[in-house]
Amino acid sequence: MTYKRRSMASIMLIVVLLLAACGSNEDSSTAMENSNSDEKLIVYTTLFPIEDFTRKIGGDHVDVESILPPGSDAHTYEPTTKTMVSIAEADGFIYNGLGMESYAEAIADSIEGNNVIMFEASTRIEAIEHKDNHHEEQGTSEDGEHAEEGEHHDDHEASEEEEHAKEDEHHHHGDKDPHVWLDPVRAIAIAENIKNALVELHPEAKEDFEANFQEVKADLKKLDNDFESLTDSKDKPEMIVSHAAYGYWEERYGIHQIAISGLSPSNEPSQKALEEIIHTAKEKNLSYVLFEQNVTPKVAKSLQKEIGAEALRLHNLSVLTDEDIANEEDYFSLMRNNLDTLDKALQ
Ligand SMILES: [Zn+2]
Repeated sequence: MTYKRRSMASIMLIVVLLLAACGSNEDSSTAMENSNSDEKLIVYTTLFPIEDFTRKIGGDHVDVESILPPGSDAHTYEPTTKTMVSIAEADGFIYNGLGMESYAEAIADSIEGNNVIMFEASTRIEAIEHKDNHHEEQGTSEDGEHAEEGEHHDDHEASEEEEHAKEDEHHHHGDKDPHVWLDPVRAIAIAENIKNALVELHPEAKEDFEANFQEVKADLKKLDNDFESLTDSKDKPEMIVSHAAYGYWEERYGIHQIAISGLSPSNEPSQKALEEIIHTAKEKNLSYVLFEQNVTPKVAKSLQKEIGAEALRLHNLSVLTDEDIANEEDYFSLMRNNLDTLDKALQ
């Protein structure tokens, strides 16, 4: 905590200097600022589902942008000073919560006194406890090399103090599974929280927000049905995944995840835990390892080779890749791709 305070003080100093030096927003004449003239709300978000739902529900009334760079690891991302300034100048900031954004408190501090409202998208949503926590018995801090293609490298020179801050964070939130957006039913509640946030920001458009939310809700119900019929058609839905992001599928649809890394891809397993996974995979004849779009832990790659499994790609939806952006993917197209992958991987 002391680390955060001190760090915020220096960030605020930089902010003041920046503002003094370049006359507030000369440095970012983005589309978002241009559209300011037709009175659109400016909302920043973190995880992609929040961005996508805010865009779908906000419609023409809202300009929305995620602060997470494409392909980054949402668990270890830290906002830059410039991002902090942009958020302070916006109307709203919507984040996931449940410990996903370790910097949320710093943002809350930095926007104090500005006219921007912060909303937690997972408010009043019941989170599950993280059961399979073999990887959390040992320290989580030595690695920092889970990065491969497309990883955001800002966090690589973590100081000792930062490591402590992370451990602290871990201590508070480590046992709640933050990946609520992957459950289509809880995603309805996320969308509703976002709708309520937008109504609070712009009550004049309440009817539009409500109508758009109803559409999102109907699509999520349909998606829930499709998950259910897929898993009903499988005898023993089990999968090996590179990180433990799919606990909500286990709870709702009975898809058992055998996770190589923990709740965050940087929580790597102990040697003993790894041997157990290898043993289970061979015993159960699991022939696929499911990697993700953004982070590929090295340990998952070597495990895949060790058991001679085929690699498939699951999308955790936390961030898009550049390719996803080019393909104009949204929450639903990505989840349908996931259903195709699951159909192949599950027995
Ligand atoms: Zn995750």
